[in-house]
Amino acid sequence: MAGAPTPSLLDQPVTALAGAGPVTAARLAERGLESVRDLLDFLPLGYQDFRALYPLSALAGLPEGQMVVVRAVVRRARPFFRRLLDVYLEQDGVQVRARWFRPNAGMVKTYAKGNLVALAGSLRRAKDGTVELIQPRNVTALMAGQAGEKSGLGLRPRYPVVEKVPGRVIEKLVTTAVEQAAGLVPDVLPAGVAKRLGLPSIADSLRQVHQPDASLSDEKLAELLAGQAPAQRRLAFEDLFVVQVGLALERDRARRAAGWRCDVDGEEVLASARAALPFVLTSGQERAIRALFADLTSATPMQRLLQGDVGSGKTAVAFAAALLVGRSGGQSLLMAPTEVLAEQHGRTLAAWGGKAGLRVGVLHAGLDARERRSVLGAVATGDIDLLVGTHALLEQSLRVARLGLAIVDEQHRFGVRQRAALRRAGGWIPDEKTGMVPHLLVLSATPIPRSLALTAYGDLELTTLDESPPGRQIVATHLGVGEAARREALAAVKAVVAAGGQGFVVCPAIIEQKQGRSGRRASALSRFRELGPLLAPTRVGLLHGQMSSAEQQEVVAAFRAGKIDVLVATTVLEVGVDVPRASIIVIEDAERFGLAQLHQLRGRVGRAGQESSCFLLTGAQNSEILDRLTFVAETSDGFRIAEEDLRRRGPGEIYGERQTGVVGLWLRNPTGVAGLVEKARREAEVLFAADPALASPESSPLRQAVEARWLRRRPIAEEAG
Ligand code: ADP
Ligand code: MG
Repeated sequence: MAGAPTPSLLDQPVTALAGAGPVTAARLAERGLESVRDLLDFLPLGYQDFRALYPLSALAGLPEGQMVVVRAVVRRARPFFRRLLDVYLEQDGVQVRARWFRPNAGMVKTYAKGNLVALAGSLRRAKDGTVELIQPRNVTALMAGQAGEKSGLGLRPRYPVVEKVPGRVIEKLVTTAVEQAAGLVPDVLPAGVAKRLGLPSIADSLRQVHQPDASLSDEKLAELLAGQAPAQRRLAFEDLFVVQVGLALERDRARRAAGWRCDVDGEEVLASARAALPFVLTSGQERAIRALFADLTSATPMQRLLQGDVGSGKTAVAFAAALLVGRSGGQSLLMAPTEVLAEQHGRTLAAWGGKAGLRVGVLHAGLDARERRSVLGAVATGDIDLLVGTHALLEQSLRVARLGLAIVDEQHRFGVRQRAALRRAGGWIPDEKTGMVPHLLVLSATPIPRSLALTAYGDLELTTLDESPPGRQIVATHLGVGEAARREALAAVKAVVAAGGQGFVVCPAIIEQKQGRSGRRASALSRFRELGPLLAPTRVGLLHGQMSSAEQQEVVAAFRAGKIDVLVATTVLEVGVDVPRASIIVIEDAERFGLAQLHQLRGRVGRAGQESSCFLLTGAQNSEILDRLTFVAETSDGFRIAEEDLRRRGPGEIYGERQTGVVGLWLRNPTGVAGLVEKARREAEVLFAADPALASPESSPLRQAVEARWLRRRPIAEEAG
C-alpha cells in the first residue's frame, strides 16, 4: 500500500533475516518465534565459557568441570561399535582423551589420524587422575578464522532447544537479529526509572544478554551465570514493571467503579447456605464467608484471593458468595481450568443450589450447539444465577444480564490476563446498563509468598482458609525407587480395590515418548493397557486431556459411580477432581511433576476422611531428585511445599505466566526477586500517580507494552496431559 509506513524490522517475520528460509521459519513459529522481535526476546538459558584456549599440558592442573577449548592433532581414534568413540589428541608430547557416547558414523572420518581439530567441552578427571573431555563440541570450523592462540570462542549463549532447528542456526539468527534490530527496540522504562535504579538501556541489555562481552571478569561472569547481571536485572525488571503498571490500572479502574451492592441480610443467607450444605461449615469457612459478605454488601467491587490448601473446602465458601449475590438479584460466573472440574462443580453446586433456590448452569466447549444456545439464552435473560464453566466463559458471545460476581477457581492454572478478561470479556466491564464492575473472587490452593503475591495477585486482598474440615487424615506417602517399588505399589492398589476402595495411577504423559538417554517415561496409554490384565479383576479406566469432553465426563461419571475401580490418568486429575471414595494414588515418574503439583495430586485421595496412601514412584537415582521427592513424602503442609517448590523451580507456574530464559533464571532467586518486585510496584505507583492515563509521549511504548500484555487473549495454560 502506497503511503503506509514501513513496518519496523522488529515486526517483520524472521524470514526478513539472512539465514531463515520458510522451513526454518515454520519450525521457529511452532515455538512461538515468529517475528524478529521474538528472536530478541528468546533469551539464553545459560552460557558456556569458551574463552580460554588451553595447551593440553595445562589441563591436568585445572579443576573438574572447567570449560576449555583445545586445539591439537589427532593421534588415534578408537570407535567401540556405535556406542563409544575415544579420540586421543596430542600436543607437545602430551596426550589427552576425548570421549563421545553414541557417535555418528561420520565422526570417525572427522577424527582421522593427523587432523588438526579444535574441541570445546568440560573437563572430567578419571579415577587414575588423568583428565579427559567428555562429549565435547567440535569447534574446528568456528576456530578456523581465529588468529593467535589466545583468541578463544568467547562466551557462548545456550538457547532453549527448538525442535528440528540446530542450535548453531538459532545462535546465528539471534546474532543477526541483535546486530540489525536491537537498536530499534523501544525503551519501555521511563528514563527516570532506569536512571534511579541504574539499569542499562534495553538495546544494551539485549546485546549483553545475547552476546556477552568476552572480557568479563570472573566476578561479572558469575553474576551473569546466576542471572544477576545488570542487563538481566533490567529485563526482569521491565517484565515485572509492565505487570505492575497493568495492575495499577486495574486497581484504579476497580476503585473508581461501582460494585454490585448486595442489599440483603448476610446472616439470613448464611443460614440458608448452612441448611443447603451436606456438612457443617468449619469456623475457618464461616470466617471467610463473613469476610466475603462484608465486601459484597459494600459499594466497592471486591477483589479477593481465597487461598487454602487442597481439600480445605473453598468451593463451599464460593457457593455462599454466589448465593448472596443471587439473593440480591445478581448473577455469578465461576471459571475452572478443566472441563472435568467444571462439570464436577456444576454438579455439586447445582445440588447445593437446588436446596437454596440458586439456579446453576454449566458452559464448556463440550456442549453441543443446542445446549450451548440454551445456556447462553438463560444467562442473558437472568434465568441462571450461577454459571460454571471453563475458559469458554471468556467467549464474546456470552452476555450476562446482571453480573455481580466473577469467581476464578484454581487460579494458578490461569494467567493474570485471563482473570482480567473474565471480568471484562463480552463487554462486562463496566456493565453497559448499570455501569457496575462485578466483584472478583479468586480461589487458589497454591499458597504464594508475599513477594509473588504482589506480582501475580497484586490487586487482591487475601483471605486464608487455614484449617481443613474435621476428620481429615494425612495421606501416608511412600517414595519408591525402581521396579520392585512399583510392584509393591500396584499390590497396594489391588489390596485397596479388593477391600472395596478406589484409586488412581497418574502418569506424566499420554503416550510413550522416547527420551534419549534418560529412557522412557510412563505413559497413561501404555499403563492403561498393561494394568487391565495385571490387576484383574480390577476394572481400570483411562482419563486424559486429549479425550473428547464427552468421553472424559463418561469416565469420571463411571468412576464416581463405582463402575471403575482404578483410573489411569494424566494431570487432568490435578485440579479439583473430588471422588470421596478414592483412597490410593500412585504417581509414576514422580520427578516429572512439580512439588506443588504432587501435593495437589495427593489431595485427590482421602477426601472422606478415610485412611489413604500415595506412592511416589521414580526410576531416578539422582540425589537432587530423591531429595525433592522425600521432601513431599515427609511434608503435608501445602504452604511449605509451595515455598520449597518456588525455591527450587522458580515461580513461573505460580506467577501464572510462563517465565523463560533469563527472566526465569533471575526469578529463580526468590529473595532477590522480592526486592525487585517491590521496586517495580513502587515505581509503577509513582508513574501512575503522575500520569494515570499513560498519556505522555514518553509513556507511549509502556502503554503499548501494557496493552499487549494485558489485553491479548491467550488460551489458558494447556494441560500437561
Ligand atoms: P478445595 O479447597 O480443595 O477446593 P473442596 O471445596 O473441593 O476443597 O472440598 C473438599 C472436600 O471437602 C469436598 O468433598 C467437600 O464436600 C468437603 N468439605 C468441604 N467443607 C467441608 C466441611 N466443612 N466439612 C466436611 N466436609 C467438607
Ligand atoms: Mg477446589
